[in-house]
Amino acid sequence: MSMPHRLTYAGVPLDRAADFRNDQDWLDRQRLSSQSLLLVVWRDCNLIIPGDNPHPVFLQGEQSTRAIDMTSKQLPPIFLGLQNQVAVFMADLSHLEEAEAIEVVSNQPEDATFVSLRSVGPLISQKSGSLLAMARAMAYWHHRHLYCGACGAPTNSHSGGHVRQCVNKDCRVEHFPRTDPAVIMLVTTTLNDRPHCLLGRQASWPDGRYSSLAGFVEPGESLETAVLREVWEESGIRAAEPRYLASQPWPFPSSIMLGFTARALSHEIDVGSNELEDARWFSRAEIIDIDQHNDQDRELSSRDSIARWLIDDWLRQS
Ligand SMILES: [Zn+2]
Repeated sequence: MSMPHRLTYAGVPLDRAADFRNDQDWLDRQRLSSQSLLLVVWRDCNLIIPGDNPHPVFLQGEQSTRAIDMTSKQLPPIFLGLQNQVAVFMADLSHLEEAEAIEVVSNQPEDATFVSLRSVGPLISQKSGSLLAMARAMAYWHHRHLYCGACGAPTNSHSGGHVRQCVNKDCRVEHFPRTDPAVIMLVTTTLNDRPHCLLGRQASWPDGRYSSLAGFVEPGESLETAVLREVWEESGIRAAEPRYLASQPWPFPSSIMLGFTARALSHEIDVGSNELEDARWFSRAEIIDIDQHNDQDRELSSRDSIARWLIDDWLRQS
């Protein structure tokens, strides 16, 4: 099967080198090494050089030391992995005001700036996007686990930032980085002898944007039953034959998107009073019109999403 365009945010180009996470001497040496590379995150933003080819800024040497010195005790630098044997860390400056965070990185190329990965995602390379996504996702997880979910006491970062442990000596629970599974599925059928796919839109989206249906996997559910349930809840369509195709980290804020196809058993759409404002069947020709801007009133989800990837894959098959 030929695959469509890249899956942005997947395939971090690092050796995660998990064996080193518990070697504190090694981590300390690498953190101080002039060779090591440092990514910087501030709140929901990464330090990026934007433009037509957005890419991450890597601090090194004195600039890296300066940023590391500004991290908080609660959120020390996180070891992300090795890139060609060079250690890559991430420093989170979210506790600083924006002007202070900018001051810390002010020796960078003048166009380096803190921007949301979402805003540059459609243009970014898979390699850069996946690295920035990992940094952002790790920062998000740490911020939401500063306190123990079991007893409420503070937690400390351990293992290069891949564990947070409760400081309460009667608890000491270890919390591990997590990602929330969500299924996303392109439901297809044949109408008037032509292939169609089911797309919907949420009221909060830009005018005219349509995308494949999606939803979170609930406890006690398999991925396959989640696919069929979400399709039913969002569109009133009964579907069958859920088939897994590919996955994509989606750090907005903390998901892994699991891409499926499914076949519709019914055609009558009812979005009910749930989250979708509208859902409808689109023919292949209609999708191509939207993609090529012949249909000015509608647009598909952005090119960095697995939703778009599923649609592109379907276009190639149908
Ligand atoms: Zn605890």
